Amino acid sequence: MIIDIHTHTFPDRIAESAIVGMEENILKGQGMEVKCARIPTFKGLSDSTKKAGIDLSVVCPVATNVRQPEKINRSSAKVNEKMDETKIFNFGAIHPDCENYMEIIDDIVAMELKAIKLHPDYQNTFFDDDKYLRIIDYAAEKDLGIIVHAGEDVGLPESVHCTPDMVLDLWKHIQPEKLILAHMGGWKMWNEVEEKLLGLPIYLDTAVVQNDKLPVKISDEQLKRMIDKHGADKILFGTDSPWYDQSQALKDFDRIELNEKDKKLILGENANRMFKFM
Ligand SMILES: [Zn+2]
Repeated sequence: MIIDIHTHTFPDRIAESAIVGMEENILKGQGMEVKCARIPTFKGLSDSTKKAGIDLSVVCPVATNVRQPEKINRSSAKVNEKMDETKIFNFGAIHPDCENYMEIIDDIVAMELKAIKLHPDYQNTFFDDDKYLRIIDYAAEKDLGIIVHAGEDVGLPESVHCTPDMVLDLWKHIQPEKLILAHMGGWKMWNEVEEKLLGLPIYLDTAVVQNDKLPVKISDEQLKRMIDKHGADKILFGTDSPWYDQSQALKDFDRIELNEKDKKLILGENANRMFKFM
């Protein structure tokens, strides 16, 4: 069973322009041209998932303002009805400025979206801000997963809104059972993650960290060491597609010398144990 826990899609009518804008941001931020690996629409992800032999791609939708969550979540629930056919499942979206966050989370629970996605850089809020704390606290109480972008964002390097220190600060107040830090705990901050976070009961996803088309990637040695130290039962395979080709991501992950049992856990069994997708 292979589950990609971290992917993105864009509505058909804005897919092209959204990606062009993000590619320009990456060029500005990293001084490097990075091209999106697939057509960033829903159909593009569904095709890529099937081609790569992945059983399920999970979309992490980012709400960039308070008006978006309701709309995104309603359409996500609809998409999830066709999961068997499309091989796509959508998590829920929420924005830290939503004053009606309880209502939104209740809806996410009712629509069985299983988790919420937070993106502190695009939501302009630090991860240990009270506005996130209250959302995470309530979401965890409802047994939802919380997946958060961690570390530098390729397109917005000026200010990092989720660092290992902020995670530790949040952890002093709440210890959500299903917290997933994307990009192995913090893109480009892996040494600090190793020092401060490994061993805690927090999940890490592998999204985009091995992509050699980005300016920085994790070394095979460090990825293996981090998995061994942290425990393979707390690592989830992810790609960040369209920012990493899913077939290539599987090939790159396969290079890491892990035993078959650990590989299976990471590639899908952990995610399915947490969220019971199938
Ligand atoms: Zn992402």
